[in-house]
Amino acid sequence: MIYLDNNATTMPLPEVVEAMNTVMHTGYANPSSIHQFGQSVRHRVECAREQVARLIGATPREVLFTSGGTESINTAIRGALAERPDKRRFVTTAVEHSAVMRLTEELGDEGYAVEYVSVDREGRLDEAHWAAAISEDTALVSLMAANNETGVMFDVPRLAGVAAERGVPVHVDAVQAVGKLPIDVSTWPVALLSLSAHKFHGPKGVGALFVRRRTRLRPLIVGGSQERDLRGGTENVPGIVGMGVAAEAALRQGGEAAVRVAGLRDALETGVLQREPAARVNGAGAPRVCNTSNISFPGLQAEAILIVLSEAGICASSGSACSSGSLEPSHVLKAMGIEDHIAHGAIRFSLSRFTTREEIDQVLRMLPELLARLTALGRR
Ligand code: PLP
Repeated sequence: MIYLDNNATTMPLPEVVEAMNTVMHTGYANPSSIHQFGQSVRHRVECAREQVARLIGATPREVLFTSGGTESINTAIRGALAERPDKRRFVTTAVEHSAVMRLTEELGDEGYAVEYVSVDREGRLDEAHWAAAISEDTALVSLMAANNETGVMFDVPRLAGVAAERGVPVHVDAVQAVGKLPIDVSTWPVALLSLSAHKFHGPKGVGALFVRRRTRLRPLIVGGSQERDLRGGTENVPGIVGMGVAAEAALRQGGEAAVRVAGLRDALETGVLQREPAARVNGAGAPRVCNTSNISFPGLQAEAILIVLSEAGICASSGSACSSGSLEPSHVLKAMGIEDHIAHGAIRFSLSRFTTREEIDQVLRMLPELLARLTALGRR
């Protein structure tokens, strides 16, 4: 199997699995319990908090554990808006993940004036539109650091600066950025930042929300007083411990792994374009994270391509995992102005630091024959 679907999820590192296994066996006490056993588990949770904080340049007190990216995003947006009830404007971008988009649609139904800032054909944000959309009566802005479908990065420090100058708090969906590019909330003017462990070789079902000191936030999930009263419920200790180990590994790998992965991604794109001159790399003209390649094969259907790839042992995706299965072209490619017949044939290949040159070469060897088979079927 050749796994090129790392934006959907990544393989947990062996050391992550081992740490989780150990804590499942030996650390099952409740971290809120007063006894020594409970306190030893509390210590493991707090160590993981330090590891995650280090990865993003936060202090441990600013890291809140959640059940994943979606919960972090919902907590950030709902929680911040609830604390600014007099402001009813919300600004985001047209290419956000469904975790933000669906919530934003709800906000619109609840009477918020929602502005979706547009992108150009390469997925670059219209910065003039961004600056014009944010005003002093904006309650919150939310933007992603890296797009899950195309890998296109937004210049978060600069864009967040525009909002911060106007006193508007900023939430960043950094789910696809963590572990791929350096994130430093100590210098970024952002109030809230969401991350998810399973996107950087940690376990599923656990994430974190950076909440800058003094940011007002109403909890989304109420119950016990865990996570400084901001997220009720007994902590997912194995998940949290696994996330900490994955964070430490991501920090250790750093830029070196990113350069190698970018080289493989470029080799894939060059090779595909040589073999399939009609193909188009979506977002290629914009700054992108190292691992993501979104390639359209005009005239073919992504679902059909994914099936032949899967039969050949190659795992890839069309658009985001959540929207694949539907025949609607991705809202991201639509927002970029990509025509339907090109958007319908878009495949996302997402690499990881475990992807090898041999795997890329093998995909390039197999692809022309697989695509030719589909084209022939289409003609029949
Ligand atoms: N945001 C982005 C950009 C994502 O790619 C994803 C997952 O694909 C999420 C949020 C949701 O994260 P989770 O799966 O941890 O809920």
